[in-house]
Amino acid sequence: MTLVCAALVATTVEEMEKDMARAKSLGADLVEIRLDFLHHLQPDIDLPRLISNRHLPVLVTFRPNWEGGQYQGDDSTRFSVLRSAIELGAEYVDIELKAAEKFISTIVDTRPDNFKLIVSSHNYEFTPSCDELSELVVRIQSVGADIVKIATKAVDICDVTRMFQVMVHCHAPVIGLAMSERGLMSSVLSPKFGGYLTFGKLDAEKESTPGQPTIAELLDIYNIRKIGADTKVFGLIANPVKQSKSAILHNKSFKAVGFNGVYVPFLIDDVPKFLDTYLSPDFLGFSCSLPHKVTALHCCDIVDPIALSIGAVSTLIRRANDGKLVGYNMDYIGAISAIEDGIKGSSAKGDAISPLAGRLIVVAGAGGAAKAVAYGAKEKGARVVVANRTYERAVRLANSIGGQALRLSDLATFHPEEGMILANATALGMYPNVDGTPIPKEALRFYNLVFDAVYAPRATRLLREAQESGVSIVSGVEMFIRQAFSQFQHFTGINAPESFMRETVMKYT
Ligand code: NAP
Repeated sequence: MTLVCAALVATTVEEMEKDMARAKSLGADLVEIRLDFLHHLQPDIDLPRLISNRHLPVLVTFRPNWEGGQYQGDDSTRFSVLRSAIELGAEYVDIELKAAEKFISTIVDTRPDNFKLIVSSHNYEFTPSCDELSELVVRIQSVGADIVKIATKAVDICDVTRMFQVMVHCHAPVIGLAMSERGLMSSVLSPKFGGYLTFGKLDAEKESTPGQPTIAELLDIYNIRKIGADTKVFGLIANPVKQSKSAILHNKSFKAVGFNGVYVPFLIDDVPKFLDTYLSPDFLGFSCSLPHKVTALHCCDIVDPIALSIGAVSTLIRRANDGKLVGYNMDYIGAISAIEDGIKGSSAKGDAISPLAGRLIVVAGAGGAAKAVAYGAKEKGARVVVANRTYERAVRLANSIGGQALRLSDLATFHPEEGMILANATALGMYPNVDGTPIPKEALRFYNLVFDAVYAPRATRLLREAQESGVSIVSGVEMFIRQAFSQFQHFTGINAPESFMRETVMKYT
């Protein structure tokens, strides 16, 4: 079982003690005490106090400046503090590879049976090649490590695969970590690839390592205790990914139905490279979001005909029998059914004619979501106008569906008739630029219904201003929930737990 270690970076002993108690209450298995973060450390007093009052096994780390830590003093003082930690009963001590040989020579007679020495190497610049990482493992093992720890920087998400390869082939207990937001999956999937332990921080804002998840995220969102070698991996292909609630929704839903899967946000710069790297059948399915929906379509072996017409995919599934990547567009289903229900004020299911038929809908945007709404509305018999910041893209989309094109700035005065429908499918208003809106408030009175695809935040500026103008609104959360039902079904092969998923979305967005 991979242990969950809370990395504690308090600056006072009192705070450190409180953090140790919190780590236990959150469910961590051990704590890492970073002595180098403590201001005015008095080893003779503080160390016995921290170790004897521990609530969980401790890993003592006293990281020097030259390895990315805070300690600026000499090694002999540092070694004597670490030796005291061993004598006081610390279960683990971390020593850097560069200092390991010297340190180990001073503890030959003081290594208790239940004590384990972690020998670590940190690269804050990049992740070396597989060969170089393997060579590093050998060097760490040969100095006498009980546990090998390698931490590198993930410059690209594809770097993480090298860490996983080294972990699965390592014969000694190993901790492999690719730091940075692009390396998040190295922390989450550590149990899948045989990691001895994985680190989490206590508070979102206090971290010793960039990109580290919190203990609560590891245990309550990613269900790390349930992850094993046969756990299937799903995730969100996007950039940025931080704002997304998909990991919460899918992981909680997997747990609710007892499905052995984990869903991870993937911060991706190069979609084809990512898909070529994570080819194994373990990486079974992906949601696609901003700005990768069109690029992802070109990476598919097979594209669903609706997605092909729209020109964008929102979901990729790796087919079990032949490994082929199949692309779907589920935004279309989610957005159109949400707008239809918004027009009718009740479910449109079972009705032969869509309430969109004959209506004039203005779609703001010309990206993936806009294409899904425009194509879907056209299919339902609506008259479609596309307004976009980049006018040429509006023209291209409008031409492809037989609609009219506008500049986004034209929306201030566009008023050919009463009772229009507005669908915002631009990124305007999306976290963190929550003040954005595609249309001045005064022009909202020309509309009967306003739909906003943006769902983070739930109450966007556009929806607030529409409501203040007396216009009916449909939130992007509705679209998100409905496409998530279809996605869940494609990921797992089982029916989505709809009411559970709806409650989860409402609770977390
Ligand atoms: P996309 O393909 O990258 O398209 C982005 C669109 O936003 C383009 O039309 C772009 O205009 C426009 N845009 C971006 N920044 C802008 C700015 N500062 N001013 C004016 N226009 C701007 O993205 P997408 O996948 O279609 O997503 C669009 C939005 O829909 C996002 O907020 C996304 O979160 C949301 N969405 C929600 C759901 C849901 O389930 N609720 C599903 C999918 C998407 P240019 O062409 O001029 O660059």
